[in-house]
Amino acid sequence: MGDDSAMRPPSVERVLSMPGADALEACYGRRALLAAVRAELAALSETYRRARLEASAVEPEALLTALAARLEAEHRPRVQRLFNLTGTVLHTNLGRALLPDAAVEAVVQAARYPTNLEFDLADGERGDRDSLVEPLLCELTGAEAATVVNNNAAAVLLALSALGAGREGVISRGELVEIGGSFRIPDIMAQAGVTLCEVGTTNRTHPRDYADALSEQTGLIARVHPSNYRIEGFTRSVPTEELAQLAQTHGVPLVEDLGSGSLVDLSHYGLPREPLVQESLTAGADVVTFSGDKLLGGPQAGVIVGRRDLIERLKRHPLKRALRVDKLTLAALEAVLGLYRDPDRLAERLTTLALLARPAETIRAQAERLAPRLAGWLGEAWRVDVTDARGMIGSGAQPVARLSGAALCLTPVCPRRDVGGKLATLATSLRGLPIPVIGRIESGALWLDLRQLDDEAALIRQLDAPPTSESAGQGVEPS
Ligand SMILES: *Cc1c(COP(=O)(O)O)cnc(C)c1O
Repeated sequence: MGDDSAMRPPSVERVLSMPGADALEACYGRRALLAAVRAELAALSETYRRARLEASAVEPEALLTALAARLEAEHRPRVQRLFNLTGTVLHTNLGRALLPDAAVEAVVQAARYPTNLEFDLADGERGDRDSLVEPLLCELTGAEAATVVNNNAAAVLLALSALGAGREGVISRGELVEIGGSFRIPDIMAQAGVTLCEVGTTNRTHPRDYADALSEQTGLIARVHPSNYRIEGFTRSVPTEELAQLAQTHGVPLVEDLGSGSLVDLSHYGLPREPLVQESLTAGADVVTFSGDKLLGGPQAGVIVGRRDLIERLKRHPLKRALRVDKLTLAALEAVLGLYRDPDRLAERLTTLALLARPAETIRAQAERLAPRLAGWLGEAWRVDVTDARGMIGSGAQPVARLSGAALCLTPVCPRRDVGGKLATLATSLRGLPIPVIGRIESGALWLDLRQLDDEAALIRQLDAPPTSESAGQGVEPS
């Protein structure tokens, strides 16, 4: 053990004059470098104090490596690209729909240059941002008018507020759903100032249930697509046509929240069918809302289509201003809607549809290709099997339907003890990769469902370095 001064780490100045420090400054700036040096030296002092180490034991190279790692970790973007190998295509926690190239390009243009967001190029006057997508939405859905807000939850809130505040909203007990997060229909009704008027039962609601509930107080009839669950067996709900008839006779609007909604019949692509927006409108719904980033395959948005007079009321409501979308969303939405004009090529061009419709054989072939690579990376301790996988659409669309594909199923070879611990450690390593890989732990295995693996090369590149449970950038211990 040396004297007291020898136990002190090097000075900030000395660290800054070390070769390599200027490269860090050029990369991160002087301010960040100084802060990192101070933090690293403070951490070192603490380590010396604990371990009673001497400052001479500090390798300048180790210190610079630690600095570089610290700076890299501090500056790494928090929004990260990743591989969604969960088997759920529209995964809300992983960002839902992936935008097609056309939409990505439109977003870049709108982000980089001034745009005619609210500017009418024909007459040079102030314009309406809805007009950028409204004609396209009307063309595709057959609606008279359309408007767009931040997401479908906002769309429902706006529609209920503008059309039903201060009056009663009649809705079947089978549709009082919770979508997730804090979005529950009764709460949204209350927030919109609409008095909930429940009719029917959980499994069966008849036309007379609605008819009996309609009164002077009624402001609207609401219908919510119970997207994320199924009631099966002895059930009954009233067809939209019949409900629309009732609403019309009574002079109140029928507002339908389709959730995912879809503009194309998914059964044409071998997928389970979701209700179509145009069908709801044809059946007589006055206002229909749906998400932009679920089956539509676009940006996060809430699309509202329907009768012109009602949509006008929504547009004039103060909430519309608070819930409006920005130019990036509109640019992406317009591009995505544009793809729907050519249904024949939609499955090639619309990323979400391409992923949902990806044939099981293609996915299995990919799994067969990847299995040996992954087995090599994992080493002796893991077995890698190519297995049939049952993926999901996600985001509440067709919750019971499964998409058959293929997965890599990773199991510990000696599962005598602590399988859960081993799987969790492996999941952590996969999440710690430069492009994190997110799988699913189920039945004693870690599943990597390859339906969504488009960039196979990028995944393989990551398998060059051996797995580690530590994520990069945790700094090094002084030697
Ligand atoms: C998903 C969903 C919502 C919420 O849509 P967001 O776009 O996530 O806000 C509302 N209603 C139904 C029926 C849904 O499925």
